[in-house]
Amino acid sequence: MTVRRINPQDPNLSASTGFREAVAAILDGGLVAAPTETVYGLAADATNPQACTGIYTAKGRPRFNPLISHVSDAAAAREYGLFDERANFLADAFWPGPLTLVVPRRPGSAVCDLATAGLDSIALRVPDSPIMQRLSREAGRPLAAPSANRSGGISPTTAEAVNEDLGERVDVILDAGPTRIGVESTIVALIDDEARLLRPGGLAREDIEKVLGRPLAGPPGDSAAKPAGPGMLKSHYAPRAIVRLEALDIAPGKAYLGFGPIPDQIARDAVAVRTLSEKSNLEEAAANLFSDLRALDATGAASIAVAPVPKTGLGEAINDRLSRAAAERMGPGVRSE
Ligand code: AMP
Ligand code: MG
Repeated sequence: MTVRRINPQDPNLSASTGFREAVAAILDGGLVAAPTETVYGLAADATNPQACTGIYTAKGRPRFNPLISHVSDAAAAREYGLFDERANFLADAFWPGPLTLVVPRRPGSAVCDLATAGLDSIALRVPDSPIMQRLSREAGRPLAAPSANRSGGISPTTAEAVNEDLGERVDVILDAGPTRIGVESTIVALIDDEARLLRPGGLAREDIEKVLGRPLAGPPGDSAAKPAGPGMLKSHYAPRAIVRLEALDIAPGKAYLGFGPIPDQIARDAVAVRTLSEKSNLEEAAANLFSDLRALDATGAASIAVAPVPKTGLGEAINDRLSRAAAERMGPGVRSE
C-alpha cells in the first residue's frame, strides 16, 4: 500500500505521481482510498466484478448491500441511470455535491451486478471533489465507493483513519487532509411516485424540499424488515465504547462529546472531552463528528456520553449517525452486518 499526499488545488493534479498510481490501480481492478467532500471513499471500478468483490472483502461488507457509483458529471450519470424530470431537477440543483440519487438502472449499462447488488435501480453521485471526479474521468469508469472503513465502524474523515482501518487492504491512499463536510451523502430515491429520503446526510432535507416544492417521503414500507444498506442498519458507525445520547451530566470516568459550551460538572468529571462545535454550529459539528468519536474511543474510555444536538438541518444526519453509534450491538464485538 502507498500513501500519497495530494493537493486537490494543484493545476497539475492529473500528472502527479499519486494520481497516476491511483488511476493505474483502478484500471488494474485495485482499490484506491480517496477523499470526497463527505468522507474518504474506498473506490474501485464499478464495471469490474472482481474489483467490486475487493471492496466487499476489504470492508467485510455483506454483498447484498449495494454501492454508490461516483461519476465525473451528470452526463456520465445518465449513462448508467434513467433520469426523470425530478432527477434532472435535483441533479441540476445539487451536483456536484453531497446528494446521492437512486434511479432506475439503465438496461444494459456497464455497472456490474455486484455494485448494485443485483437491483434494477442504481445509486449515483457526482461528488464535489476534484480528486474523485477526475479519478473517474481519467480512468473512464464509474467508481463504486463506500466509506473507506471496516464495515460497521466509524467512517474515516482523514487518510490516517483510513490507514488505521484498512491499511494493507488498499493499494493506494490519496491524502488531501480532512474532509470538508464529514458525514456521508444524503440519499434520495426516485423510483416511484414519491421522492424518498433513504438516508439523511451532508445535504439538509430542508434544502431538497425547497427545490422539490414538497416534503420528502420516508423509505418504502418494508424497509425495517429489509434494510436498504449497511448505513441504515440499526447498529453502524459504532465505536468500541458504549455511546449514551442526550447526556446533560456525566458519571466520573466517562468520556464526553459536547455541543456548545461544556457544563462545569462535565468538565470536572469526564476523563476526556471533545466538542463538536463550541459555537453550536451544525456544519462544524458534522465535520468533527467522526474524528471526535474516533478520538474519544482511542482514549479507552468505557463509555462516551453525547450532548443533545438539534435535529434540524445537518442535525438530522448527525442524530442519525449518533443513534446508530449508540444502538445495541448483536453481541460482544459483533457488528450488525
Ligand atoms: P455507503 O455505505 O455510504 O456506500 O452507502 C451506500 C448506500 O446507498 C447503502 O446504504 C444503500 O442503502 C444505498 N443504495 C445504494 N444503491 C441503492 C439502490 N439501488 N437502492 C436503494 N439504496 C441504495
Ligand atoms: Mg459507510
